Order: sequence, then structure tokens, then C-alpha cells
Amino acid sequence: MLEQVSARVWVTTSPTWLTTSTVVVDDDGACLLVDPALTPADLVSLQRELTGRGWHVAAAFSTHPHWDHVLWSEALPDVPRWATPAAVTACTDEELAAQAARDLPGHRWDVVGGTTAMAADTTELPWAGLRAVVVATPGHAPGHASLHLPREGVLLAGDMLSDVEVPLLDDAPGAVDGYRRSLQRLAGVAADVVVPGHGRVADAAEARRRVAADHRYLDDLTAGVDPLDPRLADPRVHAEHEAQAGRAHA
Ligand SMILES: [Zn+2]
Repeated sequence: MLEQVSARVWVTTSPTWLTTSTVVVDDDGACLLVDPALTPADLVSLQRELTGRGWHVAAAFSTHPHWDHVLWSEALPDVPRWATPAAVTACTDEELAAQAARDLPGHRWDVVGGTTAMAADTTELPWAGLRAVVVATPGHAPGHASLHLPREGVLLAGDMLSDVEVPLLDDAPGAVDGYRRSLQRLAGVAADVVVPGHGRVADAAEARRRVAADHRYLDDLTAGVDPLDPRLADPRVHAEHEAQAGRAHA
């Protein structure tokens, strides 16, 4: 079910990993879908809800090349599904489909992957609707990008600024420094509403708290200290933490 978070932005949240899908609606009902998720049934019901409100999907954006952010459905129209060039080349559609089968078995997705690269120098999403500024935020995944909607005061953070996941790092060398710079960049974006890829929508004060918590987590990770972070109470997040702590001190 869609919940309105600003004048033209709605969010729906899956119970699985609190995965969010965002809908940006323009005056004529044309919608931009950002990271629509999660199960095939969720995608069909999302399309139904959009149609019921008299809206139509005009474009989509994928924040990064992890399978739960590059999903689509045959129920949804065939529109451009943009991503950064680095995100598009990071993974084949087969690899993304294999990730999906491993992480959430028992489903038959229509489409996993299949995004289209924006031009390398793109600073704003190429769609006719509300201005959406592409903010490069590497560190979590290759080509990771957030979207800032200045007129709405909304930041769609992708897999950053979550209240349920600690910073999860890309395998690439320098990921921690990249992640820190991305946090600084997001802290400098003027937003009253922040939508994480997983977790609860935040106001500006809560977003600042999350930025600080994420820096603290990265400090502890690099120092080899066990972080006192309530997000690690989730066994899945804890397992990811153990794996990246092992990599950081291999
Ligand atoms: Zn991710």
C-alpha cells in the first residue's frame, strides 16, 4: 500500500527486509518508479494501485545493481529503466537472477536486470517529470546513485541511510573511503524527507542521526572494534557485518 511522504512522492514497503519502492508522480499522473520491489505479487499489486489512482508509469530508475533494486514485471509497461553506466555494466542479468534465486527462493520473477545506462555525464534523470538530480554515492555497490528531488525536498538514498542495515560495503578497494565521501555528499543534500532502500522513511533530524551512526560504524569496522550498533541485532545484518569485518582485516 502506498504512503504519501511529500506532495508528489509515495512509498510502499515490503515486509521482507523493509524494502521500499518509491513512486514520484507528476501533474499529469506520469510516474517515475524508483527501485520497485519486491516479490512478483508485490509488483503486480503496485501496478494495480497506480492504475487505480489514474497514474501511469513513464520511467524508472534503479539506484544500484543488486537484484532487489533492478526488478520489473510484465504487469508494468515497457518504459526506460535508467541506471548509471557503472551500475549497468557491473553485473549480467543472469548474475542478478542468480542472486535473487539464492537470497529469496521460491519466486518466479518476470524481469531481473535489464536496465539502460544513462549518458556518462548525466546529472539529472532524463524524464519529462519532476526534476530529479542524480547524486553519485559509491561504496555500497558499483555505480550506486541516489536521487534528489529538490522541489519536493526528498532524497531517495538507495541502500544508504538505513535504520535497519549498517553500511554494507562493495568488494572494491577503497570502498570505505568512498562510502564516507558518499555519506558526506548525502549530508550536504537539503532534504526534509529521506527514503532508504530498506527501512523507515526519515525526517532531516533522523537522517543526520543515521549519517552519524554510519560514520561510527565505519570507524569501528576499520579499527577492528566490535560496533555497538542496534542494527546488528538482526541476524542477517550481523552475518553481513561479520563477513565484511573479516574482509577488512584479512
Ligand atoms: Zn544493495
